[in-house]
Amino acid sequence: MAKIVCVLYDDPVDGYPTSYARADLPALTQYPGGQALPTPKAIDFRPGELLGSVSGALGLREFLQDLGHTLVVTSDKDAPDSVFERELVDADVVISQPFWPAYLTAERFAKAPKLKLAITAGIGSDHVDLAAAIAHGVTVAEVTYCNSISVAEHVVMVILSLVRNYIPSYQWVVKGGWNIADCVARSYDLEGMVVGTVAAGRIGLAVLRRLAPFGVQLHYTDRHRLPEAIERELNLTFHPNAQSMVPVCDVVTINAPLHPETEHLFDDTLIATMKRGAYLINTARARIVDRDAVVRALESGQLAGYAGDVWYPQPAPADHPWRTMPHHGMTPHISGSSLSAQARYAAGTREILECWFDGRPIREEYLIVDGGKLAGAGAHAYSVAKTAATV
Ligand code: NDP
Repeated sequence: MAKIVCVLYDDPVDGYPTSYARADLPALTQYPGGQALPTPKAIDFRPGELLGSVSGALGLREFLQDLGHTLVVTSDKDAPDSVFERELVDADVVISQPFWPAYLTAERFAKAPKLKLAITAGIGSDHVDLAAAIAHGVTVAEVTYCNSISVAEHVVMVILSLVRNYIPSYQWVVKGGWNIADCVARSYDLEGMVVGTVAAGRIGLAVLRRLAPFGVQLHYTDRHRLPEAIERELNLTFHPNAQSMVPVCDVVTINAPLHPETEHLFDDTLIATMKRGAYLINTARARIVDRDAVVRALESGQLAGYAGDVWYPQPAPADHPWRTMPHHGMTPHISGSSLSAQARYAAGTREILECWFDGRPIREEYLIVDGGKLAGAGAHAYSVAKTAATV
């Protein structure tokens, strides 16, 4: 029997919900492009419930207990004497999420001799030291596509929020004011602006598609060029790298994985080449930008706004400078954890576990590391030459 250690974010401060704002979720039949939604044999939760927090347990409790496995669910993950650190030593499977990452460092792999499978209940396995996973023969899998559209919607939301100066305007209302001039002195139309994405994978392309009706000029850079038909359909301008794209953009959105090629890509030097007053959106990973360079650029006016939901480390400390820098639209890491996304990543996690217990292959598109090398989606999107250190 296996021991599964699952690290999830805390329940709401008012307790686990007993009712929800909406009765159900729209029924989707497939992901854009045709990839199948998760296909577990069964689920023990109602789509639309809070599954990503400790009490939700990704809807796995009954399933694992019925099979006789041991499930430990905790949010206590960082300190050397944390529940995660203690339970890891004899764990067979670790499940974690990018929103509340259980950083699986080389040191932690060394302390977990039985560990065979690390599942990311979401997308983005950079909290796992992939080189160490390869060295220890651990399979790493994530639920590819489960929240790509959720994130794309968030990107569109924050682009509009920053450009239209929505957040300060909302705050004037809450404060009891009617300060139109204060609200509009930083408010513009998105129409006509040049918007560029660093990476046009599942999220980046979904952002491009959603922005096309706004009458913007769309640019992108990626390691692989999109099919010509898509470039024509969306009237896209391709750039060979971020360096050649950002100087022409009014808005830049980052949608690439964190790996050695992208770590600290947006530093003082690259940001200085952007248009003065550009907006930078990052829902990918915090360490793709230089934390303090972003603060400096907002303070100097080089950037007119910065928004996203990814921080380093997570949870962000109370004194993280992004909480107080000017003209930001930051949230905690939530874009990929809507109740809609949770239903998909919980079902996908169960699908991966069912395959693992049955000895069936895990879908190629879910695999990041397998058989001692990058595999599946991981072989396509990641590199491990100098795997970004996870601490
Ligand atoms: P995909 O794998 O579909 O797309 C990633 C794209 O990034 C691929 O097209 C890949 O290129 C491209 N890419 C990789 N390296 C570079 C580079 N150096 N320069 C330009 N492009 C590059 O993933 P998703 O779109 O689903 O997700 C992207 C990232 O978003 C995830 O890795 C994760 O970090 C983040 N994410 C954040 C979430 C959140 O809640 N905030 C939730 C989900 C994801 P190619 O494959 O062509 O080589």
